[in-house]
Amino acid sequence: MDLGIAGKWALVCAGSKGLGKGCAQALAAEGVNVVVTARGAEALEATAAELRAAYPAVEVRTAAGDIATPEGRAAALAACPQVDILVNNAGGPPAGDFRDWTRENWIAALDANMLTPIELIKATVDAMAERGFGRVVNITSAAVKMPYEALGLSNGARAGLTGFIGSLARQTRLASRNVTINNMLPGPFETQRLISTMAAGAQRSGQTLDAFLDTRRAVNPTRRFGDPAEFGAMCAFLCSRHAGYITAQNIVLDGGAYPGTL
Ligand code: NAP
Repeated sequence: MDLGIAGKWALVCAGSKGLGKGCAQALAAEGVNVVVTARGAEALEATAAELRAAYPAVEVRTAAGDIATPEGRAAALAACPQVDILVNNAGGPPAGDFRDWTRENWIAALDANMLTPIELIKATVDAMAERGFGRVVNITSAAVKMPYEALGLSNGARAGLTGFIGSLARQTRLASRNVTINNMLPGPFETQRLISTMAAGAQRSGQTLDAFLDTRRAVNPTRRFGDPAEFGAMCAFLCSRHAGYITAQNIVLDGGAYPGTL
């Protein structure tokens, strides 16, 4: 299927690794020019080089910086000639017990996982509407539907973003101008974050990392973790010309782990 988005420009935040990288790869494979951001310049440039080698027809630019800061966002926006597609992403907040979290911990989580996407949306959606095409995908978490006890900072910040998007995406001035805004909710995908989170779990339970990973795979209906390429493929479809009637949705990608019918 031709997704009909070749030549568009995408800003993929936090895209040097993991799910963001999966999205950047899938979009570049469709002929979309991409601006990829991350804090660490080395991994960012390595990812950009990989994309340029694999998809020589597309332009790949980088913007190193912390997307949760005004400077990081300004650099990301400045690197993108026009944002037709915005993929909002950032690292997830740390796990822990809410009794230990300070106001500063909460503000950091809200900044990265709620207010940064909102700021980037504010900077881009009205111009998308004027041009008659725009796609925003927010990477959130399956925890929005099924909160994880230890990830209260993430559960709270992402639920806040989800509530805001529910109203914004339905604004007629956006939806009627072919601007869609959707959230993608990953369950366990095999990325660096998943491995480091699981390494901590393995240590706590006294298991080897391999044994712990096997246990976690075994509780998923698919008996495996997701592949970031699968995540990227869904992102590219949501950004496609064909997905103009899909907006304000929360798409769970978790191998069927969420146990509800709806
Ligand atoms: P990952 O493999 O650790 O990759 C994170 C990427 O984000 C890296 O490129 C990292 O590069 C970049 N990044 C992190 N913080 C950033 C910031 N403040 N500014 C700019 N770039 C930043 O993580 P992932 O598994 O892909 O997770 C992506 C998001 O999905 C996270 O919010 C995570 O909580 C959520 N999630 C993941 C899973 C899963 O199973 N993987 C499940 C549910 C939710 P630098 O470190 O160099 O900046």
